[in-house]
Amino acid sequence: MLRHLFCLVLALPLAAQKMALSLDDAPFLRPAPILAAPAQHEAMRKALKDRKVRAILFANGINGGDTPEGKAILQAWGVAGHLIANHSYSHWDLNQDEVSLEAYEADVLREEALIHDLPGFTKRYRYPFLRAGNTVARRDGFYAFLKARENAIGHVSIDTADYLLDERLRKRLEKEPKADLAPYRDLYLKHLWACARFYDAWSREVFGREIPHVILMHCRLLNGLFLGDVIDFFRAKGWTWISPAEAFKDPVYALMPKNLPGGEALADAVSAERGDQGFVKAWRAQTSDPDDLLFSEGRLTERMDRSGL
Ligand SMILES: [Zn+2]
Repeated sequence: MLRHLFCLVLALPLAAQKMALSLDDAPFLRPAPILAAPAQHEAMRKALKDRKVRAILFANGINGGDTPEGKAILQAWGVAGHLIANHSYSHWDLNQDEVSLEAYEADVLREEALIHDLPGFTKRYRYPFLRAGNTVARRDGFYAFLKARENAIGHVSIDTADYLLDERLRKRLEKEPKADLAPYRDLYLKHLWACARFYDAWSREVFGREIPHVILMHCRLLNGLFLGDVIDFFRAKGWTWISPAEAFKDPVYALMPKNLPGGEALADAVSAERGDQGFVKAWRAQTSDPDDLLFSEGRLTERMDRSGL
């Protein structure tokens, strides 16, 4: 009897999910209503330092990475022990025919030239929009390009739409600089929690085991304000923050999925590669709590509208 109980406990899913933080579109030098970009970055770095968390930043020249101010911001992240990686210079979409594969590759090299001498630089590439090519030739051509240059893919296992909340928050602050921001923070945490649970369950189904996650968030005002709350929130839920270097050691992050169009978060890409698209429908059907569905951009937008955010 005891032996059976023991087996039962072992069969339960482990509750100690691990996750690493990635921040895209660095440094994102756009005017912000209350906290200028350099101050946003300082706030994010302080939140992480206080909580002993390491991140990886994916940088673009077009987002200010090619200015002295932007380079100084990236430098400060590298000096603080975080990783800096390539997100292309121009943030083009490899699923659009207007961008030739040659031009796309040249654009990636242009970004590498900008960041390769920064402390913390690592050879890892994250596709803008997580789009990895709309034809076999473009998808596999770029895979070959990455391999030849010993670049790994900056895969994402948990995708989020933090930028949607950030847009609303900025608009609100432009009109009303003293607006109460607590409802934005609360909905942001609910959104991230719904995304984490959804992608964690999907990854378990696809890979048949727990994987260390990499969450995709962005260099935005929203995170300048609330990154510390995000870290604390997941810890309170029993999740552990690990370094991106540790997460990327897992073999799933070396996969080059053959889905078409290519890209998307890992569980999504590998399901599509297998032709299995049942998970999302099943996940939606198993819940009666509307908060569980806030991983969807549509549901998040609807909730923001309804809450006057
Ligand atoms: Zn991006």
